[in-house]
Amino acid sequence: MTLQIPFDNSYAALPEGFFTRINPKPVAAPRLIRFNDGLARDLGIEADASDPALADMLAGNRIPDGADPLAQAYAGHQFGGFSPQLGDGRANLLGEVIDSAGRRRDIQLKGSGPTPYSRMGDGRAWLGPVLREYVVSEAMHALGVPTTRALAAVETGEKVFRESGALPGAVLTRVADSHIRVGTFQFFLARRDLDRLRALFDYTRARHYPQAETPGEMLAGVIGRQARLIALWEGLGFIHGVMNTDNTTLSGETIDYGPCAYMDRYHPQTVFSSIDAQGRYSYSNQAHVIVWNIAQLATCLVPLTPDQDVAVEEFTKLVHDMPALIAKYRSEVFARKIGLSAAQDGDDALVDDLLTLMQQDGADFTNTFRSLSDGAPRDQFTDRDAFDGWHARWQARLKYETDPEAVMRAANPYVIPRNHRIEQMIAAAREGDYAPFDRLLTALSSPYETREEFADLTRPPLPEERVQQTFCG
Ligand code: AMP
Ligand code: MG
Ligand code: MG
Repeated sequence: MTLQIPFDNSYAALPEGFFTRINPKPVAAPRLIRFNDGLARDLGIEADASDPALADMLAGNRIPDGADPLAQAYAGHQFGGFSPQLGDGRANLLGEVIDSAGRRRDIQLKGSGPTPYSRMGDGRAWLGPVLREYVVSEAMHALGVPTTRALAAVETGEKVFRESGALPGAVLTRVADSHIRVGTFQFFLARRDLDRLRALFDYTRARHYPQAETPGEMLAGVIGRQARLIALWEGLGFIHGVMNTDNTTLSGETIDYGPCAYMDRYHPQTVFSSIDAQGRYSYSNQAHVIVWNIAQLATCLVPLTPDQDVAVEEFTKLVHDMPALIAKYRSEVFARKIGLSAAQDGDDALVDDLLTLMQQDGADFTNTFRSLSDGAPRDQFTDRDAFDGWHARWQARLKYETDPEAVMRAANPYVIPRNHRIEQMIAAAREGDYAPFDRLLTALSSPYETREEFADLTRPPLPEERVQQTFCG
């Protein structure tokens, strides 16, 4: 037994036009970097990590029994401009499994070679982004954020060529509730293919929103999940970096970790992505952009309704109400970050005044919040008088709470995957040293626990360590 995956494939049974059947392209010398045993168990997957053939399968050189590899078609707005034909240009969906909770999950190889959707790309990924996605997606899961997961990473033994030169190639095995994106709906709308658009709606509804009976009810469901997701990102100082409509899922999971980053110093306009010159996907713009993306989904669902004028009115209202829903989730997320079990009138102002002080002083986002329960928050600020004023108001509000420390410790992580640590981890891996990668994963598996042995990972970057820009890979 090398790798047994109890496949139960449903996407492959959708009509022609949803995907192209294609196998991963074999690579020269697969080598296993890491296999996620805990996740494999949840998925009912059995693997023998000591068998060299496991790396062959996870690199796409051998197809596991029951797999039906395919590249999915989708479209998408990239930085606001519409691309009618994107699709999996460097990924193969192997198939689906039903996990221990009864949930259908996709198993996908990413970086597994060219497909008909590759356009000018090579279909490959290099080691850096594969390790980044592995670490950040697993961290997000441990932090309590809906996200795709990482089942495995392998080196390919081949080079990939990017602007910076020849880089080691790698393949990530990604697990997702599904890979259905807003852009998947846009693909069929752009072709005026209402039959397939309806088939996609039926499939998505049954898979993710079985309780929804109409397109409008499903739209409301997606809005709820995405609104919460954005609030959770904000609560961690997370910036996705490429919130194109093809990177917005119907399941409500975070997907496609590219030039993503957690900010160190708090500033709402923070941008890391080298390709986001206008700051379209800055930290604070995420709450606006998601509404725009959801409006694109709403547009796709209108033709599926019996009375389109009524639908336009109904969907417009849902979209217009989304900012208030995001604000409600944000209030709850940030109330907990300052120890309040439920947000009340006036609490938003208390939170926002703290954030303003943090912004003025360039305070570290993660450490300032964590210090409210486990440290000396005053030391995070240069304007200590201003902080003392805020602190007095906060203490007065905390009188009404029973165990604010416990609330805060569950809301403010001790450790997050800081950019400079990810960059250092990638640099080490390029030299063949995977110890920093393994150590980051260990630290981030229980991010809310204070563990002194990982104190170095909680330190903000020194000036020379600071990462100014992140790249797509
Ligand atoms: P992403 O920015 O990773 O979300 O990708 C956007 C689009 O570009 C998707 O259609 C990807 O499949 C495609 N793409 C990204 N990188 C590559 C690559 N190296 N080769 C082929 N297609 C790619
Ligand atoms: Mg993408
Ligand atoms: Mg991608």
